Amino acid sequence: MPDVKAYSAASETSPLAPTTIRRRDLTENDVQIEILFCGICHSDLHSVRNEWSEFSETVYPIVPGHEIVGRVTNVGASVTKFKTGDLAGVGCLVDSDGTCNNCAEGLEQFCPERILTYNSPDRHLGGVTLGGYADNIVIDERFVLRIPEKLNLPAVAPLLCAGITTYSPLRHWGVTKGKKVGVVGLGGLGHMGVKLAHAFEAHVVVFTTSPGKTEDALRLGADEVVVSRNTAEMEKHASSFDFILDTVSAPHDINAYLTLLGRDGNLTLVGAPPEPLKVAAFLLIGGRHSLSGSAIGGIAETQEMLDFCAKHNITADVEVIPIQKVNEAYDRMLRSDVKYRFSIDMDSLRSD
Ligand code: NAP
Ligand code: ZN
Repeated sequence: MPDVKAYSAASETSPLAPTTIRRRDLTENDVQIEILFCGICHSDLHSVRNEWSEFSETVYPIVPGHEIVGRVTNVGASVTKFKTGDLAGVGCLVDSDGTCNNCAEGLEQFCPERILTYNSPDRHLGGVTLGGYADNIVIDERFVLRIPEKLNLPAVAPLLCAGITTYSPLRHWGVTKGKKVGVVGLGGLGHMGVKLAHAFEAHVVVFTTSPGKTEDALRLGADEVVVSRNTAEMEKHASSFDFILDTVSAPHDINAYLTLLGRDGNLTLVGAPPEPLKVAAFLLIGGRHSLSGSAIGGIAETQEMLDFCAKHNITADVEVIPIQKVNEAYDRMLRSDVKYRFSIDMDSLRSD
């Protein structure tokens, strides 16, 4: 396959810059997708800057991007789910062994052989997989999602990671009408968590460090907004939550949230700060609280989430940018200055 335009970073201190990469020739099960939009996830930034080196060392050059929507431009001979011209989505997963218990249960994200969209071993070309800040991608049809035609494409892209990463734990922990649910951090994941928990008819409370996001939080579906640096406001919610979803990307005090859980309440971390968090034992013991984590979601559940979003007209709130502004977007994301997800218009790469 000819060279493919992309943006990559050459080291943990390098900005993203134009490059060309190779994609594999289509195998019989592969789909080739021209990428139209790709969301910018905070995980892209953690990975580009090698902030998770203790758990997953970044291999350079890295091409990030795992919130991909596009059009199918070619299919292998055995492909049955997609044809040329179809809309298609790709999230964080591009392969798994397909045989382990996790895969059998549709939980490919926990397969020991799972291959992520970038920075995982590439079984076809060697090296590591390269993500969605690129003109196109070639991927096994098992990992391609159907995108409902009626949704706004730049705003659909973030559903492929931010959407499923919040949908899955909200479902797993039984968030429904009558439950009091907290969402900590109103960024890309957080704002999707608010929209989804609201759609599940929970009572939603947003915790933010940015007082300027209060109005937006209410518009997005929150019933209440708490500025988390205000101790008196926090105390009003003591021992009252069924479930809290923590989406914060940086070190922070999770004990301040454990203390807000009601009996048997759960706090789930989806945010992935590189440094360990401190947990006060008595804040778990006291109310039989639990603390857990959650990783994206399996392929079937991702499709379920996309179909749910189409039915309820839910997409991300996006600021569409040309790829030439990607480094500026990273800096703004670090300052919590995103409303509420950047979505890269990949035509800007093609005309670069
Ligand atoms: P994001 O858009 O940057 O949002 C993070 C939000 O956290 C910010 O908007 C801010 O919200 C809050 N925040 C940032 N720094 C903070 C600090 N020092 N103290 C308290 N709050 C702070 O990032 P994202 O794309 O939503 O990703 C969030 C995290 O989830 C990242 O660590 C990412 O790697 C991780 N992630 C995990 C999974 C998974 O499968 N588990 C999947 C995707 C992403 P306020 O301004 O409202 O305070
Ligand atoms: Zn992500």
